[in-house]
Amino acid sequence: MTVPDKVVVVGAGLAGLRTVEELRARGFAGAVTMIGAEQSPPYDRPPLSKKLMTGELDDTSLRADLDSLGAEVLLGQTATGLRPGTLSTEAGEHDFDALVLATGATPIRLPGPGSQHVLRTIDDALKLRALLVPGTRLCIVGAGWIGAELATAGVQRGCAVSVVEAARAPVAVAVGPEVGAVMAPWYAEAGVDLRLGEKVAAIEDGGVRLANGERLAAEVVVTAVGVRPAVDWLAGSGVELDNGVTVDGKLRSSMPGVYAAGDCASFWSARYGRRLRFEHWDVALHAPEVVAAGLLGACAEYDPVPYFWSEQFGRMVQYVGWHGGADQLIWRGNPQQDAKWAACWLAGGRLMAALTVSMPRDLLQARRLIESGAAVDPARLADPGVAVRDRAA
Ligand SMILES: Cc1cc2nc3c(=O)[nH]c(=O)nc-3n(C[C@H](O)[C@H](O)[C@H](O)COP(=O)(O)OP(=O)(O)OC[C@H]3O[C@@H](n4cnc5c(N)ncnc54)[C@H](O)[C@@H]3O)c2cc1C
Repeated sequence: MTVPDKVVVVGAGLAGLRTVEELRARGFAGAVTMIGAEQSPPYDRPPLSKKLMTGELDDTSLRADLDSLGAEVLLGQTATGLRPGTLSTEAGEHDFDALVLATGATPIRLPGPGSQHVLRTIDDALKLRALLVPGTRLCIVGAGWIGAELATAGVQRGCAVSVVEAARAPVAVAVGPEVGAVMAPWYAEAGVDLRLGEKVAAIEDGGVRLANGERLAAEVVVTAVGVRPAVDWLAGSGVELDNGVTVDGKLRSSMPGVYAAGDCASFWSARYGRRLRFEHWDVALHAPEVVAAGLLGACAEYDPVPYFWSEQFGRMVQYVGWHGGADQLIWRGNPQQDAKWAACWLAGGRLMAALTVSMPRDLLQARRLIESGAAVDPARLADPGVAVRDRAA
């Protein structure tokens, strides 16, 4: 394989920046151009719904020394099309030997004429934060991770917060209804009005209209019902798309010389025997190592035990692994009584995934256990008095 002379990276978020950093760290001396639609230099998104929203932080910049990376950084430019060897943007065309797609994801909006906020960019976050003043009625549509974090921040800022969720439990899409259900009481304890099993039909002026006809009044409505990979602009380009850019275990797309990483990439996982796409910070951080290695001719595979965290209602929630295909759910501790507990998913007697609440050490040990593929004794795993690493079958 020939090492490229010129690499173009589309998307100036975490995955885009990490790609440039990794290329340089591995000694790539060729030309690198990073093109991003936002005006802001790369910044971190997780604090947008946490410390930035509560007012403890104003700046989440990744503080990369872009000059020392020797990259051409073009901000405020949106890529609009691709053909082999050439990327089109609103501002012109860029030829490349290799291209890295790192365009992330775009929030889904709901129908209706009313004003609705979403939370993806720093501009979204600062605009929203300015409205969260004491007494504001804040209605959040969606009790997913971001909905829960926003509700936490809204309460902290003195707002009257309601959350409307179509499923029967919070974060049910991510962790299933059984585990999601034990998080539902957190909302009421924090003073949040959580409405489960209710669909929003439309965002209207001054609130939301539920599918059952009821109207919920709110000065501020935030739609937090998920995102879609930002890949529409690639339709018809020849790059295969299926819930994101389809890439193999080396993060190579169907078009030679074109790679993808981060939220926009649906990669083949040999570990799980299927294609997966995650919206995890950790993936955007590490997948670019594999992209850079591949571009420089090394043989690297991306096959992580995925990791995600969320900070909500004073708790640190962490999830490691992937529980698709699990056949057993084990509780470690009692989620109804204990402040700290974990849910562990097993398949064939091996740990597949774990969700921990305020137990970072268990999370780390669970990650190692998942990586090892060792058999576990469910009774020992269920006992919080036995360290996760000592749960051998
Ligand atoms: C509010 C919030 C809180 C989060 N909290 C957590 C958390 O607690 N834990 C966790 O693990 N993860 C969290 N995440 C997810 C994590 O931030 C993402 O997984 C990560 O940012 C993905 O990085 P990325 O580089 O793939 O995409 P992005 O960060 O989305 O960057 C993609 C960039 O590409 C640009 N772009 C898109 N289309 C084009 C185009 N056509 N041309 C040029 N540029 C384009 C976008 O404008 C964007 O700047 C959170 C996300 C949000 C929004």
